[in-house]
Amino acid sequence: MKITFLGSAREVTGSCYLVESKQAKILVDCGMFQGSHLTSSKNFEDLRFQPADIDAVFLTHAHLDHSGRIPLLVKHGFRGQVYATPPTTKLASLVLEDAFKIMREDFEREARPMLYGEADIESALKLFRGVDYSRDVTIKDLTIRPRDAGHIFGSAFYEIREQNGGSAAFSGDLGNPNSYILKPTAQLGAVDALIIESTYGNRIHEDEKTRESKLKLAIERVIKKKGVLLIPAFAIERTQQLLYELNHLVENRLVPPVDIYLDSPLAIKATKVMREYPQYYDADALKLVSMGDDMFDFPGLKQTLTKDESKTINEAPRPKVIIAGAGMMNGGRILHHLVRYLGDPSTTLLIIGYQAEGTLGRQLYNRQPSVMVLQERITVKATVEGIGAYSAHADQNKLLDWISSAASLPKRVFCTHGDEGAAVALATRIKQDLSINADAPHFGESFEV
Ligand SMILES: [Zn+2]
Repeated sequence: MKITFLGSAREVTGSCYLVESKQAKILVDCGMFQGSHLTSSKNFEDLRFQPADIDAVFLTHAHLDHSGRIPLLVKHGFRGQVYATPPTTKLASLVLEDAFKIMREDFEREARPMLYGEADIESALKLFRGVDYSRDVTIKDLTIRPRDAGHIFGSAFYEIREQNGGSAAFSGDLGNPNSYILKPTAQLGAVDALIIESTYGNRIHEDEKTRESKLKLAIERVIKKKGVLLIPAFAIERTQQLLYELNHLVENRLVPPVDIYLDSPLAIKATKVMREYPQYYDADALKLVSMGDDMFDFPGLKQTLTKDESKTINEAPRPKVIIAGAGMMNGGRILHHLVRYLGDPSTTLLIIGYQAEGTLGRQLYNRQPSVMVLQERITVKATVEGIGAYSAHADQNKLLDWISSAASLPKRVFCTHGDEGAAVALATRIKQDLSINADAPHFGESFEV
């Protein structure tokens, strides 16, 4: 089979791989390129294949950088099926509808072009078919096996085998072993080639304990200063991980009482989806559920679904904690809170997720003294802090452990879905530690397995 890298090559976003066998053409993921705005101009470039020729898409998980261009495929003639786990199917529909709303706002405010229409999303969602972990799907001469990636709810990696040909695994995104609720990443089977994510290919996360104490300290600080704690969070997974931890801190009285606003319609809806699929929970989460605890709810938590509810947060007395999307601060309700509170020294901005280059989140994470938010220049007086351990991604050690515990070592590894430095660093360690031929492919490169 031939694999072509059509996204997330030496960058994090835009995941898209074309897999061609003697008889079949499939895609693994077709995600959005993201930059300073939700969509980057790269999304409008030629796809380099005819969508009508594609037999099927295998979606690893619901995040926009993996799912966001599926409606674009449909717009340009794709009529095959999109395979994903049942939770991914539900979450992807929320993610795509939310992205559409942000695109429309960007269009209305700044006349930024829209990638596709609402009808394309509707048509795309009709093509989704549910797959279960470890149940094979056959597309002509290809057999595709979904396995649990442990990254976000419903996430999968795929092992693909060609009849009388080679085999390859596509990791999608791999989970952080410190995550709550999710089951661990499944063991990698024996494949010839592995395409592996490298978001944190050059980093080691701090441990869970550090993470909890940093969160606790941040809450205590805003209470003392009567300030605002802003937590931009990815609506899917990161937010629920955070709610799980806050549930623990609040219900065990490890932090003083404080109002916590979940100001993200997408996160509120995604949390509902997660409640529907307890069969995807790990043992600890199941235990909490069986004891009657709602792990996503606790005293002081207020969910603001509508715009009017969201506006009530402005008038609410301090101290207060606001969790809002988008996680990389390139859209969503967090922008309004940043405009209001970034210039205030009693504010703490707690960054708990990966911030792609070019995003407002990355500028703030790099402690840029002033930033542009919603076309306003703001001098940052807030305290900015980062906690890496909330990452939904595996760090360098976990990535290496996962490869080395495979049923047998792959002969070839391609590191993708990482900034150039991260992808190259991971490839170097794979070569050194595991003696496997590894590198970081460039956009448009192909490889025969
Ligand atoms: Zn992801």
